[in-house]
Amino acid sequence: MQNVDVKVKTIPLIPLRGLTVYPYMIVHFDVGRKKSILAIEEAMANDQVVFLVTQKNSEEEEPSIEDLYKIGTSAKVKQLLKLPGGVVRVLVEGISRGEILSVQQDEPFVSVNIKEHVDQPIEESKEIIALMRNVANAFEEYIGYMNNISPEVLLSVVSIKEPGRLADVIASHISLTTEQKQEILESLDVKERLEKLYGMLLNELDIMEIEKEIAAKVRKKIDKVQKDYYLREQLNAIREELGESDDAQQEIDEYRDRIEKAGLPDEAREKALKELDRLAKMAPGSPEGSVIRTYLDWILDLPWHSFTEDKLDIKEARRILNEDHYGLEKVKERILEYLAVRKLKEDVKGPILCLVGPPGVGKTSLGKSIARAMGRKFVRMSLGGLRDEAEIRGHRRTYIGAMPGRIISSLKYVHSANPVFLLDEIDKMSSDFRGDPASAMLEVLDPEQNVSFRDHYMDIPFDLSKVFFITTANTTDTIPRPLLDRMEIIYISGYTDEEKLNIAKKYLWPKQLKEHGIQKSIAISDKAIKKIIEEYTREAGVRNLERNLGSLVRKIASRIAENKDFNVTVSARIVESYLGKPVYRREKAVEKNEVGVVTGLAWTPMGGEILSVEALKVPGSGKLVLTGQLGDVMKESAQAGLTYIRSKAKELGIDDDFYKNYDIHVHVPEGAIPKDGPSAGITMAAAMVSALTGRPALSDVAMTGEITLVGKVLPIGGVKEKVLAAYRAGIKKVILPEDNRRDVSDIPQSIRRKIGFVFVNNLDQVLDNVLQK
Ligand code: ADP
Repeated sequence: MQNVDVKVKTIPLIPLRGLTVYPYMIVHFDVGRKKSILAIEEAMANDQVVFLVTQKNSEEEEPSIEDLYKIGTSAKVKQLLKLPGGVVRVLVEGISRGEILSVQQDEPFVSVNIKEHVDQPIEESKEIIALMRNVANAFEEYIGYMNNISPEVLLSVVSIKEPGRLADVIASHISLTTEQKQEILESLDVKERLEKLYGMLLNELDIMEIEKEIAAKVRKKIDKVQKDYYLREQLNAIREELGESDDAQQEIDEYRDRIEKAGLPDEAREKALKELDRLAKMAPGSPEGSVIRTYLDWILDLPWHSFTEDKLDIKEARRILNEDHYGLEKVKERILEYLAVRKLKEDVKGPILCLVGPPGVGKTSLGKSIARAMGRKFVRMSLGGLRDEAEIRGHRRTYIGAMPGRIISSLKYVHSANPVFLLDEIDKMSSDFRGDPASAMLEVLDPEQNVSFRDHYMDIPFDLSKVFFITTANTTDTIPRPLLDRMEIIYISGYTDEEKLNIAKKYLWPKQLKEHGIQKSIAISDKAIKKIIEEYTREAGVRNLERNLGSLVRKIASRIAENKDFNVTVSARIVESYLGKPVYRREKAVEKNEVGVVTGLAWTPMGGEILSVEALKVPGSGKLVLTGQLGDVMKESAQAGLTYIRSKAKELGIDDDFYKNYDIHVHVPEGAIPKDGPSAGITMAAAMVSALTGRPALSDVAMTGEITLVGKVLPIGGVKEKVLAAYRAGIKKVILPEDNRRDVSDIPQSIRRKIGFVFVNNLDQVLDNVLQK
């Protein structure tokens, strides 16, 4: 169906940017380009008609004919308004579509020859009517969404009878892309134009429907916030009416503010807000409210983001360790190596350090020094005697008076999430019906688990992985195996008297003076210190030594306070007059050689000890009686010794049938600590042989070693501690298993010179050295 009438005209051209003008459309726009202004002037001089064509690219400043669409609209200029800056505002009314056939001229303005296309009246088919209605309805719906189109527009649109014009008018009112608008303009066929427009309208409606849904969702959210705000304000008003002060609300607001600002991890934040909501709903002064407040305070007080920066300068660390501790060379080296590894790889999940040694040898203070060397805060927690798992992990909040465990409390106290954390006496934890602290401890120390350590009270995870844990113990024997597996053990043995003297002189004495506020330096003689070491203390470490020096300093301080000058060097005599009578005599071995009494050496978590093992032969029927609270291993070891003796009775000069007529009684004095372990084996055997043969044992010979059924002597542990104890007791000769020869190098030279060592492989060699000929 040809519905277009064709005429050819020559008209001045104005390119449009981002604007499409349809026939009948009245619109104004600004013209700035020189050529366009000239084109308008030309038009005004004639019939005021210009040809308006849209640029394909609106950025183009001087579009050539190729940069323009082919189809445009001829329009009549209705009004001209010169604006400042040479811009002309024109009001035009579209007349009809036109298609550029050729360029008539290019300068000084462009004029083109166009073929005019005028919509021809078409037969009003049902299809066209239906299409027109659809388009009009869709447009009405469209207007419903948009609030910038006035309803009069709809009225004027509905009254249009020509289908082509209807399409053009609607197209000019809806928001379409330039391309879409051009597409409508280029649809010369009216039916096709209506169809296209309808498609575009439906598409727009779809988009707007989606937009509306999105907007509704967003609005709902905002509404909730507003509603909450409103309700809260109302609640405030009600509280005020009830005479309940504003303070309660203020407190809630403060908490809310603190929670938002604390930068808590998500789970903690949610938990805190939830608890806060509960608190907000509670009547003021309710007891549960104070439970919640305490809980919120705990959450807010934890060092979630509080870290100290590590100093990992090994040289400086060495200086600090030396500054705080005398000797301990090997231990310090091990610690420095450990720090060096951490320096190389900062997030190493290395083993936990465990310092093992008798009390008072400086385990805790080494821990403190490590913290100082790394620039971290220090916190200590003693696990000694700890039975209740809740001490570590806290009680659930349902429990009355619940509190967080000591791990969390300590972190709050130091206010750092990466302190050096010393767990003292990890060997002294025990478990009972209140749970298993060792397994809780494991969770704390295991790098796989401690990233999200969950205290029962807090019930939110806290990251312990940045904490530097150090543990201490007196012995590794009682450390639960799974814990032990995660630890790197560093042994610290007891000090010799010589070492103690140096520690006292260089460290403890100056420290005590300073701690008691004595400014001037007061000298103390070596003899005085030695007297304290020998007669006032008996220990592997220096704790009591330090305590005694402390009491000495206090006495001096009180003299100074009484205005009595103190100008002398502290001597052994002053020690006795200030500290009172000596507490200990030197631990002496048996003074004279006796039958059946042999000196053994024992290791205890408190250091080395000497012990006199006694054996007696009494009429009986071959029983072995053991007394003195011996452990099972020790009993078996005594039995093995006796069997060996029986097997060698003849060679040892013992009556073959002794076991038929006699009982043997072996007694090991209990001392302070129950003993077990195989290392008294040769001592008990020697005592039995002495008793059975009647040959006295030498009192200045001491021994340690395990015995086998065939009389072999096997190596034992704790050599250094034992030899130190022997030395203190004035022993001249120490018998050790051959395989322990290398351990002797740990013993200071000064002591090695004063003691004779005999290394043995079998019991015969032991007897040769201890029994009088
Ligand atoms: P532990 O934790 O092993 O029981 P401590 O660390 O409490 O022992 O030590 C007790 C005291 O002895 C502390 O004042 C400590 O500084 C001091 N001390 C221990 N060993 C040394 C040492 N080698 N040099 C200087 N002081 C020491």
